[in-house]
Amino acid sequence: MVKSAAHPPTLDHIGIAVKSIDAAGLWRDLGLTIDHVETVESQGVRTAFLSVGDAHLELLEPTSPDSPVAKFIDKRGEGVHHICLRVTNIDEQLTALRAKGYRLINESPVPGAHGCRVAFLHPAAGNGVLIELSEKVE
Ligand code: ZN
Repeated sequence: MVKSAAHPPTLDHIGIAVKSIDAAGLWRDLGLTIDHVETVESQGVRTAFLSVGDAHLELLEPTSPDSPVAKFIDKRGEGVHHICLRVTNIDEQLTALRAKGYRLINESPVPGAHGCRVAFLHPAAGNGVLIELSEKVE
């Protein structure tokens, strides 16, 4: 298949900033289970993924007081932090978005959880929502 025959983005996960993954009880009490826990050093977070149908919730716990998620919680409290869309052509997407003048946080992809290549778009680009693009590395 030609690479340019890219699929439209799909919802991968919703990231929720929490002070403590262990103390975040509602999700488990709703019957969801944590199926993957991973520390992403480059983002200063410990992440826990819970399956919700085809998508996931990603609980984000800061690993240090100066990580971006710690600053988010200091400023706004716990809550929805970002929405992640899975794409099949992250490099092309970033190039096209940059050309259209959207503000990017990551000019090129960085390593994310699950070994994915991810890039964040500035909330100013996404109607106030921090958007993560993620491409699976096979
Ligand atoms: Zn995420």
